[in-house]
Amino acid sequence: MKLEELGEFGLIERIRKGLPKSDDFLGVGDDCAIIPCGDKELLVSVDTLIEGVHFLKDTDPYLLGRKSLSVNISDIAAMAGLPKWAFLSLSLNKSRDVSWIDTFMSGFLDIAKEFNVFLLGGDTTSSDVLTISVTIIGENEKGGSIKRSGAKVGDLVAVTGRIGCSYAGLLALENGFRKYNELKLTHLNPYPKVKEALLIKEYATAMIDISDGLVQDCNHICEESGVGMKLYWERIPFCYADFVNKEDMLCGGEDYELVVCFDRKFEDKVKDLDGFTIIGEVVQGSRVSVLKDGIDVELNNCGFKHF
Ligand code: ADP
Ligand code: MG
Repeated sequence: MKLEELGEFGLIERIRKGLPKSDDFLGVGDDCAIIPCGDKELLVSVDTLIEGVHFLKDTDPYLLGRKSLSVNISDIAAMAGLPKWAFLSLSLNKSRDVSWIDTFMSGFLDIAKEFNVFLLGGDTTSSDVLTISVTIIGENEKGGSIKRSGAKVGDLVAVTGRIGCSYAGLLALENGFRKYNELKLTHLNPYPKVKEALLIKEYATAMIDISDGLVQDCNHICEESGVGMKLYWERIPFCYADFVNKEDMLCGGEDYELVVCFDRKFEDKVKDLDGFTIIGEVVQGSRVSVLKDGIDVELNNCGFKHF
């Protein structure tokens, strides 16, 4: 069988099945692994950015430096943890200008400083294709991390921010639109929602960051929690971008907003939190459905997959 038939998530599941099971830690299947550490737990995740796949050639190196770390910090936010330490692996072509790397590093270190993250090491190799891989380590109090697997039937579902702005920004960049700078920046310079995660942590049963698209990432919560989800079109805070279909906004990736499930008894508390919108509920089932005027929206081939 070829990888394209198995798909990205089929491959991850195949790798996962071959691993020994243990109750000592949480491994494959969430935004971060959870490793117990005294009265705390460590959160660890790795994310790779490849030129031509994750970013366009000639992307501003300062913003790329920021984004390389931001998307990793976002995985710590998705567990409601605090980011602490990072490792940076760079694969570069020898003809690359050193000033490009200096600028990249100043972006990386600026976001590191904003979130109190320390760069502790990494790896440097040569490659024709610019590849950036960041490992992040975060921290939480023991049992404090919010997993993808905790959603319960009857919970409500909320999101931070607006949905689809990063995808709209990417389209604006790819098509060379002159306007839409703010949307382009949402794509190039996402801001991890660590603060928001800490605000909602005490009410949350399950959480994920939106890296692959709202619908696909909600489906990850459904799979890990063994539930279904209903999202109500009219309540979704779509991005203001008149040149993009709303259906595509539900499927486009890299919003780096949070999706969070919580017990409905906290509805009023969550309504009072800044920056959250309640968009749906957890139901029996196994998949997400998006309802517009009560009718299921067709979302074919929805969400970013590498294969
Ligand atoms: P995210 O979008 O939050 O970065 P991914 O979709 O990349 O998460 O990964 C889903 C889960 O699969 C994570 O728990 C990740 O650690 C795990 N995973 C992905 N690729 C591999 C791999 N090659 N080997 C082991 N685990 C993997
Ligand atoms: Mg994630």
